[in-house]
Amino acid sequence: MTTKNIVINTKNKILTRRKFLTTSCIALSGATVGLGSKRLLGQATPKPADPPNIDPGYIGPQFFDKNEEQALLEVLESKSPFRYWGPGNPEKVLRFEENFAKFMGVRFALGVTSGTAALDCAVAGLGIGPGDEVIVPAYTWWSDYTCVVHAGALPVFADIDRSLNLDPADFKRKITPRTKAVIAVHLLGGPCDMAPIMEIARKHSVAVLEDCAQCVGGSFGKKLLGSIGDVGIYSFQVNKMITSGEGGALVTSDPVIYERSARFHDMGTIRRLFLDRAGPSRVQTFAGENFRMSEFTGAVIGAQLSKLDSMLAQLRGNARAIYNGIKSLPDIRLRYRPDPDGDIGYGVFFETKDKASRDRCIRQLRQRKVPASTLTGSVLLPVRESVINKRTRHPNWPSFNSPEGKKIKYGPDSCRQTLDIFDRFVQVRVGAKYTQRINNYIIDAVRRVYTSLT
Ligand SMILES: *Cc1c(COP(=O)(O)O)cnc(C)c1O
Repeated sequence: MTTKNIVINTKNKILTRRKFLTTSCIALSGATVGLGSKRLLGQATPKPADPPNIDPGYIGPQFFDKNEEQALLEVLESKSPFRYWGPGNPEKVLRFEENFAKFMGVRFALGVTSGTAALDCAVAGLGIGPGDEVIVPAYTWWSDYTCVVHAGALPVFADIDRSLNLDPADFKRKITPRTKAVIAVHLLGGPCDMAPIMEIARKHSVAVLEDCAQCVGGSFGKKLLGSIGDVGIYSFQVNKMITSGEGGALVTSDPVIYERSARFHDMGTIRRLFLDRAGPSRVQTFAGENFRMSEFTGAVIGAQLSKLDSMLAQLRGNARAIYNGIKSLPDIRLRYRPDPDGDIGYGVFFETKDKASRDRCIRQLRQRKVPASTLTGSVLLPVRESVINKRTRHPNWPSFNSPEGKKIKYGPDSCRQTLDIFDRFVQVRVGAKYTQRINNYIIDAVRRVYTSLT
């Protein structure tokens, strides 16, 4: 950042020296901040009336630099924006797929147009269809539900637990002889408890689809998320860790899942390059979609991928500092993290005793300009009207016309534990560019507010 970022609001003509110092401490990183934070921390804790400007922002775009610019220019100058052919030997998406597979520790990666498209490809890759049931967490993004419905299969919800992710015990309870797969969604930057989930899934021959859209680069037990189950998906939409505005990817080490997914993403056909990677074709042509990634997307996301490690280090460092600063609060109940080192640090999360305390806590933190909220970025699916009423694009859609589909009941009674957990958790966003002063300010505010609640 440069001094250009110091915006002086001309409406408030008189900018006090103190205010100016505070603003510049945040705008300037590095040496200035060290000096500023020492000075400020030496004093009593900052007054609520004079908080730093805390904005976690969109993480990916904060790291845009010459790399993305150069890669985009190369696509423009080559006049080859389409991944398969053009006068300039296009290979941005191709290289991105190779590098992404290497990063994630899997055999194959497929670039697509969105995380939602990647889910549709993964479901096609697993051969899921009418008559099959897929277990989906009750709190997650729409796409984990729509991908099951689009395949004509039946979504069966399982509760989340204090990891804010799939409760392994409820996953186990929801398995029937028709269960074909489970979608393990790593929400809000934190991995699912993959050890019990994999054990239960393997024992019952249930395929595991990992949705890593909100946890790109996260890990569990030293394995990168997406490489543990049968197939993994990612989103590169602007809210996610690395971004090209829109975009997505699928990874797997299974050549049949890969070929089926690659075919589904390209009208059911297969190009030479996928067979070069996975070996001779094992699947016949079937009706698919067009979810092909463009070279512009490949250019930007390839550049972002090369920075993912350093982005993760910054975000994780800030989250760790804040967790460390609040974990000693008496009786504090932090989010259960089955592998704290695998968390990407998107936020810090803690529990209050009831909804009223949660709301009071959020209100008081926001008064202090701390980016606190209820859990965000997902939907309590079983209580949504369109889900309760099983609405599809055609009344004869197979998902809800089977005996099981007619019988299944969604609504609040199908997800009490999830609703209860949702109502009690507070989320505080973490930014990759937070300074030590911001981390300390947040720690201080959470400590004061939390202590005053009980
Ligand atoms: C964002 C998101 C998706 C869908 O990704 P898009 O690129 O927006 O289509 C899927 N699952 C989860 C958990 C997400 O957060």
